[in-house]
Amino acid sequence: MTQKKTESASEAPVRYDCSKCPGYCCSYPRIEVKAKDVARLAKHFGITPAQAERRFTRLYAKDERILKHQKDTVYETICRFFDTDERRCTIYEARPTVCRGYPDGPKCGYYDFLKFERKHQGDPDFIPSA
Ligand code: SF4
Ligand code: SF4
Repeated sequence: MTQKKTESASEAPVRYDCSKCPGYCCSYPRIEVKAKDVARLAKHFGITPAQAERRFTRLYAKDERILKHQKDTVYETICRFFDTDERRCTIYEARPTVCRGYPDGPKCGYYDFLKFERKHQGDPDFIPSA
C-alpha cells in the first residue's frame, strides 16, 4: 500500500504508481494486524507489543485486531500511520503483512479508476469519490 512496487525478473510489470495516488487502500477501515505485525511495530517504535497493540490497534471482532484510523480530508478517515500531507505511509519498513501484499498482482483497480477519471476530466490531479 502507498508505495510503488518494483519489478523483479519473475514478476509481471507493475501497472500502478502509488506516488500518483492519494492512498485509497490505506483508507480501508479494516486493515488487519496479527501478533507478528504488532511485534514488528513494537520493535520499530522501541516499545512492548502490549504498548503497540494498545497505541496503534483496536479490536474489530473477537479474534480480529485492526489498525486505528485518523481523520483525513480526502477519504474522511485513513490509517493512523498515513502522512496526510505527503500522502504516504510513515512506517513503510514496519507495515503489516496485509499492506505488504496489496494489491496482490500487477494491477490496482483503484489506480485504473483514478487514471480513467483523470483522463476524462482532463485533470491529472483529480480525485474521484470512490
Ligand atoms: S490504491 Fe493502489 S495505487 Fe493507490 S496507494 Fe493503494 S496500491 Fe497504490
Ligand atoms: S501501515 Fe502504511 S501501508 Fe499500511 S495502511 Fe497504514 S499507512 Fe497504509
